[in-house]
Amino acid sequence: MAIRRILIANRGEIALRIHRAAHEMGIETVAVHSTADAEAMHVRLADHAVCIGPPPARDSYLNVAAIISAAEITQADAIHPGYGFLSENARFAEIVEAHGITWIGPKPEHIRTMGDKVSAKTTAGALGLPLVPGSAGAVADAAQAARLAEEIGYPVIVKAASGGGGRGMKVVTAPDELASQFGQARSEARAAFGDDTVYLEKYLGNPRHIEFQIFGDGRGKAIHLGERDCSLQRRHQKVLEEAPSPVISADERARMGGVVAQAMAQMGYRGAGTIEFLWEAGKFYFIEMNTRLQVEHPVTEAITGVDLVREQIRIAEGRELSVAQADIAFAGHAIECRINAENPWNFTPSPGLVSGYHAAGGMHVRVDSGLYAGYRIPPYYDSMIAKLIVYGRTREGCIMRLKRALGEMVIAGVETSIALHQALLEEEDFRDGNYSIKWLEEWLRERNA
Ligand code: ADP
Repeated sequence: MAIRRILIANRGEIALRIHRAAHEMGIETVAVHSTADAEAMHVRLADHAVCIGPPPARDSYLNVAAIISAAEITQADAIHPGYGFLSENARFAEIVEAHGITWIGPKPEHIRTMGDKVSAKTTAGALGLPLVPGSAGAVADAAQAARLAEEIGYPVIVKAASGGGGRGMKVVTAPDELASQFGQARSEARAAFGDDTVYLEKYLGNPRHIEFQIFGDGRGKAIHLGERDCSLQRRHQKVLEEAPSPVISADERARMGGVVAQAMAQMGYRGAGTIEFLWEAGKFYFIEMNTRLQVEHPVTEAITGVDLVREQIRIAEGRELSVAQADIAFAGHAIECRINAENPWNFTPSPGLVSGYHAAGGMHVRVDSGLYAGYRIPPYYDSMIAKLIVYGRTREGCIMRLKRALGEMVIAGVETSIALHQALLEEEDFRDGNYSIKWLEEWLRERNA
């Protein structure tokens, strides 16, 4: 069924990203916003806008009743959740569908299964994906954790089943720390996610974070769009992402992509998804699946030429994917820099008035952002204010262009992480593609010492 009007249940750059894809398909958009976002670009560009509550996200962007009412009032026939907020809330997806509104996302049962990291691991294992060695399911108490840790070998990591955003993880390096770290992981998980279920994994020494973009039609067909390397992280949060990964060969991409696509086909997965792996010494280890669009999706778009949001909308309409696996070719290299409103070295948030703004441009340069001169960045939400995505025929060319583009960006009035990215690009390890998930924090520690 053709969608005519999409309500975008999100804000910032991703709300704009979805609006753009919708308009290119001749579909109208409805923006919803908190009172803090009344002047936001996604609100200005949308065909309709509805205020859904005060600034705190739980009263607005997470306010299910207000969002459903907004959809009914504006006669939106579909809802796109973007990433974050309600995007991985299976109950919300069910409520949307129960109201006869098309949910632009995976089947609710798959969101639920993959949203719980313990059941996600069990499911991934059953589908033939390689796992990080660890507990077969939830770990009941510190004694069981200690037995398992002896078996697996230290160091181990205690992770929250409901964890996300890099929170709810505790590394344990020696047996005498286990009981206290286990207890802490539990109570932090309970406080942050309202669920104190935890599980145990081998803590890999120096892995890379490599994830595969997949798409399923919900009827047993699935494809992969290659991998992204997201190893540059701070506090388990991605800072810069690239595609392809500097360490994955074309053969390995085709092999592992095939394994992942086959698993998703078997599951009957619908829509966009990302399968995250840690990669060490040539081996992949599944860590989790995200049942939504990712922040870093544009690097995949840049090297494949496929508009991922357009495909999401097509699949929600019950149509076929517009591309088959054989049509997907990987050409060139793309890098995304997440630009945050924060001090580049101590990461203190820096919301406030953007007194001047100029976006980089030119060939193969994409800026996804809701910024404009005179915009006031509210203090209530995520600090990411722009994504700079640059493409080049080679990795070297991409890095040269990225340096040029970062130098053109002007975001005046607030502090941003642009200087951090500029410094990163000068590092030999980065230029050589020689980095793991530990690299950035070690580099920052040395630099700030
Ligand atoms: P979240 O859902 O919070 O993002 P993930 O399970 O995706 O949690 O893990 C986030 C990051 O934490 C990974 O990219 C990696 O840097 C680190 N991490 C997670 N599990 C392990 C592990 N077993 N060994 C080493 N690092 C890990």
